[in-house]
Amino acid sequence: MSPGFLGAPDVDEIPEDAVSFRALSKMTARQRDRALSAGRVALLISDWIDARFRLPDTDIPACPATSLNPAAQVVRAHWGLGERPVSNVLHLLESRGARIYSLTSENTELDAFSLYWQERPFIFLATGKTGERGRFDAAHELGHLVLHGEHQVPSRPAAEAEANRFAAAFLMPRAGVLGQGLPDATPARILEAKRIWKVSAMALTHRLHELDLLTEWGTGPRACSFPRLGYRYGEPRGIERESSQLLAKVFRAIRDAGETPATIASSIGISTSELQSHVFGLTLTAVPGDGQPVTTPPRHGLRLVPPPS
Ligand SMILES: [Zn+2]
Repeated sequence: MSPGFLGAPDVDEIPEDAVSFRALSKMTARQRDRALSAGRVALLISDWIDARFRLPDTDIPACPATSLNPAAQVVRAHWGLGERPVSNVLHLLESRGARIYSLTSENTELDAFSLYWQERPFIFLATGKTGERGRFDAAHELGHLVLHGEHQVPSRPAAEAEANRFAAAFLMPRAGVLGQGLPDATPARILEAKRIWKVSAMALTHRLHELDLLTEWGTGPRACSFPRLGYRYGEPRGIERESSQLLAKVFRAIRDAGETPATIASSIGISTSELQSHVFGLTLTAVPGDGQPVTTPPRHGLRLVPPPS
């Protein structure tokens, strides 16, 4: 941290109860405070960007937690997703107003957390997980934002279970999965289908069980074979990890304006490498210089508009 950062006026801390940490029971106060402090720096980065770009408006419906599958269906319907797989969860959430930052390397014990800050939804994601796990974590945090409202995110096991069920229903919608002919699917068939939904083999197996499509759960060959084949914590031949499209575009726009990521870092009072640790390592990554987006824009394209001067 620079003297400028330390000497700057105090910023509002993130209140502890604004966040639902999945690992809360095992988490020390020190770990929690470290995560919230890192999150606070990311909020400063976000403020810097907000002062210069018009980002997508927030369009995340709020639903009560009483009816879980319908909540995921409500969001899917509201966003016009039908029953199709979500091609890129992070890009979709960013197009709907979520600000997504990465958890820094000293917070490796966390998967993710989210909160509303000044009425804007923020999601923080670990980057060391598989691509499939990263998508599920992002959908889980969407679940907290949708189910647990702007002002009250309960820190309780029930809330975590609700967010997990939301994530499964959001990523693997009932009708879409039912339409795939997966009753009593073999492990090979599950591995094939998980590539369509871009979820882990275990998550799809779980969902098939939830939809009463598997009859041998817990004792059958599927439940045993996936962990043995390395699918409990990993995802052999998995998908690429999703990253922020919004931040990539912001950094390209900054570059196009003749500035460098060091501009942001120094005005916040952090180092460029610290900045990089909050933004998926994007700032020092070469962004293609042909003026093309780094990824295909989602259906509801992100647009960065410099605010009127
Ligand atoms: Zn959670």
